Amino acid sequence: MSVGTPPFEDEHEQLRESARGFLERELAPHAARWEEEEWFPDDVFGALAAQGLLGLKYPTEYGGQGGDYLHEAVLCEEMARIGSGGAAAGIGAHINIATPPIWKFGSAEQKERYLVPSIRGELIGALGITEPGAGSDVAALTTRAAAVDGGFLVSGEKTYITNGVRADFIVTAVRTTPEGGHHGISFLVIDRGDGVSSSKLRKLGWAASDTATISFQDVFVPAENLLGELNEGFKLIMANFQWERLAMALGAVGAMTVAWERTADFARERQAFGRPLSGHQAIRHRLADLATSVYTCRCVTYDALRRFVAGQEPLKEVTMAKLLTQRAAFELMDACLQIHGGAGYMREYWVERAARDARLGPIGGGTAEVMREILGRVLAL
Ligand SMILES: Cc1cc2nc3c(=O)[nH]c(=O)nc-3n(C[C@H](O)[C@H](O)[C@H](O)COP(=O)(O)OP(=O)(O)OC[C@H]3O[C@@H](n4cnc5c(N)ncnc54)[C@H](O)[C@@H]3O)c2cc1C
Repeated sequence: MSVGTPPFEDEHEQLRESARGFLERELAPHAARWEEEEWFPDDVFGALAAQGLLGLKYPTEYGGQGGDYLHEAVLCEEMARIGSGGAAAGIGAHINIATPPIWKFGSAEQKERYLVPSIRGELIGALGITEPGAGSDVAALTTRAAAVDGGFLVSGEKTYITNGVRADFIVTAVRTTPEGGHHGISFLVIDRGDGVSSSKLRKLGWAASDTATISFQDVFVPAENLLGELNEGFKLIMANFQWERLAMALGAVGAMTVAWERTADFARERQAFGRPLSGHQAIRHRLADLATSVYTCRCVTYDALRRFVAGQEPLKEVTMAKLLTQRAAFELMDACLQIHGGAGYMREYWVERAARDARLGPIGGGTAEVMREILGRVLAL
């Protein structure tokens, strides 16, 4: 089987068709307004849940669809059809980073309390790891959870948290020992309530997503909200990184595909010097290069996905896919914008938003430099 052969089967392609139809019909028409309002409504989660789209990979006993990561991968790609990186990010944070740790490490009671209503779209989740003083260097986090009678008292600040204002619960990395470093990090599921306050941040792109600084001031968290083992939270951070990065690579491939198709259509239509733009060799060659980039990104991402689904723990391939696709997506969006000329710079054209949205890729979910550091280790450099 060649690297670029899609790992999907008929059932995945059927899902693609129905998910695409739903996203284009029900969500895409609102994307421009959400961008202006810098927010998308919470009931989008309920609408997705009604289609079974919040629980594709989760077992039916929790209300999921009983599918696998390939079903989720289809949704990650198709999310680009909404035309709003921000909405896709908010939905993606709930599905791909906030709920997976509860599924993998949660007790039966925690799954009942958080995972089941999350799949139903009744609760919205966020993952809180990054802090003002700890981003790439996760082990530097200082949000403190002091042991008290019956639980923990949490104080500290998280920042750049997706769904940070709207989230009902925050899967939060905290420090549970006075010493720093990797050891002594634990995870708590923190409900919004007394002592939890959020302030929304404004951004270059992903405008419709809700990115916030969250402050915890002496928040009491009951012992039953400890996720996984005490002081073993670093493992939990690492456990979902591969899927998070694959999901980002798939999202980039989806966004690049849509952008290329639309830009090629534009180039066939738009006339300059008595012929379509695509009739000019420079533009035609640029589009050929961009198609090659989409294909390359898809091949590398599908290869990593296939290995991941086969249980190979493909750290190198996933890291390469994340590194390659995020920069390539931004470069492709910039090129598509250029082909649109002045129109590409206008708010009313989709490509202006797509270019801004794509800038986050080499920063979020582990920066490009961090990906290179990981590859340096994997390649024994
Ligand atoms: C829109 C948005 C949404 C986000 N959503 C979430 C979320 O939901 N939950 C969450 O926990 N976090 C979230 N993040 C945070 C994101 O994961 C971090 O921004 C990212 O990990 C980088 O951390 P930092 O911003 O602190 O940058 P820093 O770590 O301070 O890095 C600054 C620069 O230095 C470089 N650098 C750092 N270390 C090295 C090194 N060793 N070698 C070479 N270069 C290095 C980085 O690559 C970067 O270019 C989000 C961020 C954004 C912008």
